[in-house]
Amino acid sequence: MIIALAGGVGGAKLAQGLAAVLSPKDLKIIVNTGDDFTHMGLFISPDIDTVTYTLAGLNNKELGWGLTGETWYFMDALERLGGDTWFRLGDQDLATHIERTKRLKDQNLSQITADFCQRLGVKHPVIPMTDDSVQTVVETDIGTLPFQEYFVQHQCQPKFKSVRYEGIEKARPHPEFLAALADPELEAVILCPSNPLLSLRPILGIPGVTNALAKCTAPIVAVSPFIGGKAVKGPAAKIMTELNLPITPAGLISLYDDLLEDGLLDGLVIDTADVDQTDKLERPVIHAANTLMNSLEDSKRLAEQVLEFAAKVKRS
Ligand code: GDP
Ligand code: CA
Repeated sequence: MIIALAGGVGGAKLAQGLAAVLSPKDLKIIVNTGDDFTHMGLFISPDIDTVTYTLAGLNNKELGWGLTGETWYFMDALERLGGDTWFRLGDQDLATHIERTKRLKDQNLSQITADFCQRLGVKHPVIPMTDDSVQTVVETDIGTLPFQEYFVQHQCQPKFKSVRYEGIEKARPHPEFLAALADPELEAVILCPSNPLLSLRPILGIPGVTNALAKCTAPIVAVSPFIGGKAVKGPAAKIMTELNLPITPAGLISLYDDLLEDGLLDGLVIDTADVDQTDKLERPVIHAANTLMNSLEDSKRLAEQVLEFAAKVKRS
């Protein structure tokens, strides 16, 4: 059994590849919920939706987020009335948020997610990292910004100083996540090529997760979100530069290695474009692959390589 930790876009693409090569009982996809927020009275869970829509084959490939074949009548009408339009809500996507918000009165996020997945034909378990509230907040040169204001409203332009995950100390990892980490059949924990600070550290920072990782015998293997010293999408590289970290495998590893005494990662998959950056690294074990995923075929091919590599890596 494999655990995949995922944020939105980068996470969803590898999760889709893993789901294409593993049976539903052999894969658990644990998704970041630190980006969740309430907007216009609606509870929005962007990474859960990106992963669910992608696995359902319903993701909008042109936009890179949201649903395929989306229309925007609601947004246009809202704009006409002078409403808030900085966060784009497509007509179909709106149904997800309205139905989820209604159900949250007597169900938790993971139950709702499981039901939406079933209805959309997603067979592999998509599990929120927690059903408790965790909110990513970014400290910037223009002040403290809740994640969506930093990411969408300000388009990551303010200089990143630090990040915190409000409520994390009281959050409990989803029970299925903890059970999977303790499962003797666990073969690997894969960190998808998601944003390290905005998508993966919230998952890893929930109390109990690093303890469970320290005890598990399965290797922890990350896939780099960087190709040729650049992020494929989003602010990951900009943030590294603003934190004075090199956009190299060593820089990436440094974002995780404080989490466990002997370092978090046992294996790291980097892009072939970055192989000349690895000379001084003793651990983790490095594997180079073509990590760009532009199609389901790419995702599947990378997933196969990551699994093959993870099967050879030992827990250090
Ligand atoms: P978000 O929550 O939508 O921001 O998505 P994630 O945190 O899951 O992923 C964002 C990261 O995915 C960015 O840092 C990108 O560089 C990375 N990414 C996106 N597409 C690819 C890809 O095809 N290959 C690799 N290696 N990384 C990717
Ligand atoms: Ca996200």
